[in-house]
Amino acid sequence: MPLTPLFAAVDVGGTKIAGALVDGAGRLRHRLQLPTPAREPGPAVLAVVHKVLDQLAGTPDWAAVTAVGIGSAGPVDLADGTVSPVNIPGWRGFPLVAEVAAHPAVAGLPVRLAGDGVAMAAAEHWQGAARGAANALCLVVSTGVGAGLVLDGAVRPGPSGNAGHLGHITVDLDGEPCPCGSRGCLEGLASGTAIARRALAEGWRPPGEDATARAVAASAAVGDPVALASFDRAAQALAAGIAATAALVDLHRVVVGGGVATAGEVLFAPLARHLDRYAALSYVRGLDVRRAELGTDAGLIGAAALCR
Ligand SMILES: [Zn+2]
Repeated sequence: MPLTPLFAAVDVGGTKIAGALVDGAGRLRHRLQLPTPAREPGPAVLAVVHKVLDQLAGTPDWAAVTAVGIGSAGPVDLADGTVSPVNIPGWRGFPLVAEVAAHPAVAGLPVRLAGDGVAMAAAEHWQGAARGAANALCLVVSTGVGAGLVLDGAVRPGPSGNAGHLGHITVDLDGEPCPCGSRGCLEGLASGTAIARRALAEGWRPPGEDATARAVAASAAVGDPVALASFDRAAQALAAGIAATAALVDLHRVVVGGGVATAGEVLFAPLARHLDRYAALSYVRGLDVRRAELGTDAGLIGAAALCR
């Protein structure tokens, strides 16, 4: 009996490196993840990627693998096959595609790369909340803010692979300097890190040990005004970025995922309110904002989607 083709998927983030084999319907097999030694030199991080590949290659299903897809924290450079994840300092211009292609089990297979925002968009377009949309913006709001674009029916990574990187557009003209070199970036206002930092600065006190955006969300859900204000400010920044994108490229479907989106109405209610103000032109009014459906597996499913 002929084998059903599978894709090998690897998702490289600042906290974990995950891998799986993915079938033609987006279902995962042999999923595993290992912690990213993000503060260690580049070769130590690569060793974890190879360990993930070793484990996948050790399964009988590996014989059916026809391509390897990699989603990586960015920025990425598709032309060179390199990655320079902000939160993995040991990798700058790191030749990830060549290093994965050099793994003995991968030799000869095509290797595809995308930034994590583009991978998430590819996943949601293939199997999630952007399915059926010819045009969509898909955002990941977590410790940072990433995004990817679907235009005219296809995911558009752009020449470098970073198209749609909404986290680093300026939404506050004279805002705070951003680590990227610009100022007033969306990420600096809307990320989980920003939500927690602002709430703490305004006098919010975490109920327990956890002082992250998740704890701010819990306080907001029971009416804490400082916590609510911090989410409102993040939602306002997101709305400005989403409305600008919709006006620019003429899209209607917006998918929001990532850890901060799990706050639910604490984020989505003010987001809808601010979008009413910012998305005002006739062709962007009433944007269809949906919650992402694929959760933490979006990176793996998206890496596989790149191989199709
Ligand atoms: Zn920036």
